[in-house]
Amino acid sequence: ALELKAIRKSFGDVDVIHGIDLHMEDGEFVVFVGPSGCGKSTLLRLIAGLDDPTSGDIVLQGKRVNGVPASERGLSMVFQSYALYPHMTVRQNLSFGLENMRMPRAEIDRRVEDAARLLQIDPLLKRRPGQLSGGQRQRVAIGRAIVREPVIFLFDEPLSNLDAELRLQMRVEISDLHAKLGNTMIYVTHDQIEAMTMADRIVVLRAGRVEQVGKPLDLYNHPANRFVAGFIGAPQ
Ligand code: ATP
Ligand code: MG
Repeated sequence: ALELKAIRKSFGDVDVIHGIDLHMEDGEFVVFVGPSGCGKSTLLRLIAGLDDPTSGDIVLQGKRVNGVPASERGLSMVFQSYALYPHMTVRQNLSFGLENMRMPRAEIDRRVEDAARLLQIDPLLKRRPGQLSGGQRQRVAIGRAIVREPVIFLFDEPLSNLDAELRLQMRVEISDLHAKLGNTMIYVTHDQIEAMTMADRIVVLRAGRVEQVGKPLDLYNHPANRFVAGFIGAPQ
């Protein structure tokens, strides 16, 4: 399980996260929604270990991980901008992080080929990012997270650069991936349909606080207030 206990985060004298408590079960697909600037990316970065909370504890599988570097937390993050290395092939983009970990070549190749097969990008391994479509690039970015074999996947609006049709396709692919791998996934989105269809539970954030947490249909049928109803797309 992943637990956030009284998490606060300030940048200088600006308080961004105001005391968040959350408990996520192993294998859960949790979606964070909320308006721009409410702290979704900040919260993911704290969980990933790219930054540390000002106060409060992050507990992963029973162990407090505050201050533990990102590379040792067993999490992988997929960003909105794919951040692939343009001068490297797809294979090199997938294997780069593992090479830095000094993993044996055979293990790297196995992981890269398994991930490529799973994401159906195996015919593209020799290409460079500039020779791929947006959806293919996004799959490589997801592949880079998969090869690390993380305990938890963190997705920060991974589909927001894609057109409607591709979003739909990738949404189904990420749900399938979750069904196959069974990992905990935390997924940030602005898209109500993504939230409603992908989530086991939705966390609605507002200005650095949790406004409501629940299963999609519970939030839809019983929103705590008009703000939640608006975000979930429920009748108000
Ligand atoms: P969006 O939906 O637009 O991606 P978000 O919910 O992900 O928004 P965050 O990126 O977490 O929002 O930002 C939350 C608040 O913290 C914003 O007001 C932002 O300006 C501020 N913030 C984020 N990072 C920093 C930083 N490094 N220094 C100062 N302020 C920051
Ligand atoms: Mg963000």
